[in-house]
Amino acid sequence: MSRRLRAVLALLPPLLGGGLVAQATTVRATSVVLVTLDGLRWQEMFGGAEALLLFDTATTPSADARARYWDATPEERRELLMPFFWQVVAREGQVFGNRLGGGGIRVSNGLKFSYPGYQELLAGYPDRTITSNDKRANLNVTVLEWLQTRPGLAGRVAAFGTWDVFPYILDEPRSHIPVNAGWDTLELPRPTPGQALLNVLMTTLPREWDRERYDALTYLAAREYLLAERPGILYIALGEPDAWAHGGRYDRYLEAAHNADAFLRDLWETLQHHPRYRGRTAMVVTTDHGRGTGRRGWSRHGQNVAGAEWIWAAVLGPDTPSRGLRDDVRNATQGQIAATVAALLGEDWAAAEPRAAPALPGVVSDDQ
Ligand SMILES: [Zn+2]
Repeated sequence: MSRRLRAVLALLPPLLGGGLVAQATTVRATSVVLVTLDGLRWQEMFGGAEALLLFDTATTPSADARARYWDATPEERRELLMPFFWQVVAREGQVFGNRLGGGGIRVSNGLKFSYPGYQELLAGYPDRTITSNDKRANLNVTVLEWLQTRPGLAGRVAAFGTWDVFPYILDEPRSHIPVNAGWDTLELPRPTPGQALLNVLMTTLPREWDRERYDALTYLAAREYLLAERPGILYIALGEPDAWAHGGRYDRYLEAAHNADAFLRDLWETLQHHPRYRGRTAMVVTTDHGRGTGRRGWSRHGQNVAGAEWIWAAVLGPDTPSRGLRDDVRNATQGQIAATVAALLGEDWAAAEPRAAPALPGVVSDDQ
């Protein structure tokens, strides 16, 4: 294809529903994007905004949030909150963890906070020695580090995180996975105008949090990297839902979820308009932990918070049958995410790492 034709194609309006993905004939994905939305509850994912928290001006000072995210039914509310997720991911892919319908996926690390959760989902098993969010190098090889040793993926894995602990979770010095996280500026091998703009923002914006940047910066830095460096595996770890929830701001928590959904849409459409990724890229979206319930509990999570073990996960890709809500899967664990990421690329992480849980069932067609 000529460069000019590619340029013209890139100007086409996005296709509705990511329709370029083949449904009838299966094609193994050659690239995967993994996106985590830190601490976003299954309650909002499957039910949208919760009345108890939305109509309380202490948790939701913004009347605008009430106007934007309230509707009569859970189905309507969740689509207002995360339209791309419900219009595209849930229709064309598979979604796990819908407690309203009896489905379930949970963290098995018992601690229900971030570092143990990222260990479980990235390595495929809990590590009982990880008991804090401290900046300590992870001694475990994650599926991302292992995939770098597989054919065609050497040096083609990259990670972007809102939270500044990700370079430790992925042990950047050992794994050689470039990890851009926290308020790190972006330093591409070949600098772009977009990078320059992002770096001005990252060094001059007032910082709501010292250890977490805004998700928009994380996403746009990852997008810039994707288009410039064309990784085979891109991990984007967003963090604002958790940060706003800890601050007790339900309106901003909802806004962060809604914005993350817009980033997912932009990411998916960008991939479907890119000659290297179109129709050959899978997307996995999940979270590190759930949260509690009620006026006080919703903002919290951790070992002693009941219900914070329940999470959710979604898979969308050329080789994933469109089965929508997987309420038939009731006892999946967070550790199954790691092998799922590998399976989408035709790789078997559970065989390479005996401690790892198997891939989620039915996310890859069996006929190849
Ligand atoms: Zn948290």
